[in-house]
Amino acid sequence: METAETADPPPLGLYCHVPFCVSTCDFCAFYQEKPRRGDILRYLDGVERELALCPPDRAAGTFFWGGGTPGVLAPEALRRLGSAFLRANGAAPFEWTVELAPATVKRDRLAVLREMGVTRVSLGVQSFDASTLAALGRQHLPRQIYQAWDWIREAGFKNTSLDLIFAAPGQEESRWHADLAEAVRLAPDHISTYCLTLEEDTALFIKLAKGRVRVDADNEAALYRATWAFLEEQGYAQYEISNFARAGHACVHNLNTWRMAEWLGYGPAAASQWRGQRFQNPANLDRWLKGIEAGALLREQVVALSPETLLADALVFGLRMNAGVEPEVLARRFGARLPAALRTLGIRLEEEGLLSGVPECWRLTLEGRLRADAIAVAVLECW
Ligand code: SF4
Repeated sequence: METAETADPPPLGLYCHVPFCVSTCDFCAFYQEKPRRGDILRYLDGVERELALCPPDRAAGTFFWGGGTPGVLAPEALRRLGSAFLRANGAAPFEWTVELAPATVKRDRLAVLREMGVTRVSLGVQSFDASTLAALGRQHLPRQIYQAWDWIREAGFKNTSLDLIFAAPGQEESRWHADLAEAVRLAPDHISTYCLTLEEDTALFIKLAKGRVRVDADNEAALYRATWAFLEEQGYAQYEISNFARAGHACVHNLNTWRMAEWLGYGPAAASQWRGQRFQNPANLDRWLKGIEAGALLREQVVALSPETLLADALVFGLRMNAGVEPEVLARRFGARLPAALRTLGIRLEEEGLLSGVPECWRLTLEGRLRADAIAVAVLECW
């Protein structure tokens, strides 16, 4: 398979943002709204027109539908959205992921997804524990997770993933271990584990500001370590800080994104990196539709991508992956020079035990992965 390192042009992925949720989780910082009457039809019309106004310039190998919750769409709406993507792409992708929230999983929706060629389903479990789910403001109950999982297995998707969140308010370490063990018991092909981040303007951030919840960095580091050790032992190889897979089940769409390939995003708030630019669609259904109806797509936060920007971002995201990065190879790929400060940084991080493989292939050590955010800042400061 061609990879982002070898392919020219690079692999293309199509992302679709389905911006609807029935209620808002307390930690949610994504653009989503409760669908009002007629919104879903306006959204589907909009995506069809957006695909016609900005079609992929070559067949994409991966589709990824996220949100929001794509599962709020009824079977006929899912079919319409899928047909629009397949028509615009001209070919079926080899990987097609759809994120689903447990409460939205229904047999008829899964049947439509399978028929259309969806290969990968990612279930937003977050926790199997009712009190942790309540602390996160999630609307589903543990029994809905098990029901959804049974139906997903029964539908026969090639690749399944579960998403979990740790360091939730009041979540004791033993509860997190129980969540991990339960996820492994269900035997998905892939597991994502995210440390809860409290983003501004979320209900949990407000509780943090009022002192009703607190963040404990030492506890988070201990949970990271325990998670990585446990999942590795259970046959899930870590391939990125938050992602673990059985052999052959890493998410190719995400790998291509982290390797700075190209992607086109459709729907409000969807981001793109394409033809030397990065941009985002308006994070508002009406504003996004306004551009589409006028026949001129509104693009926000437009950044022209210089070779240096691509190189720096490929290093930062690449370092989060266990395979690491080859700085010289990336510099040649993007046609940029490696700054002298980066070489010095690599040597220093290796001396501090945070990095190995300098100068050829830089890989963060376990300690380095725990400090990946600070290392990313240090890499970006080299320019
Ligand atoms: S389901 Fe996802 S997108 Fe919707 S409110 Fe919860 S976290 Fe946000």
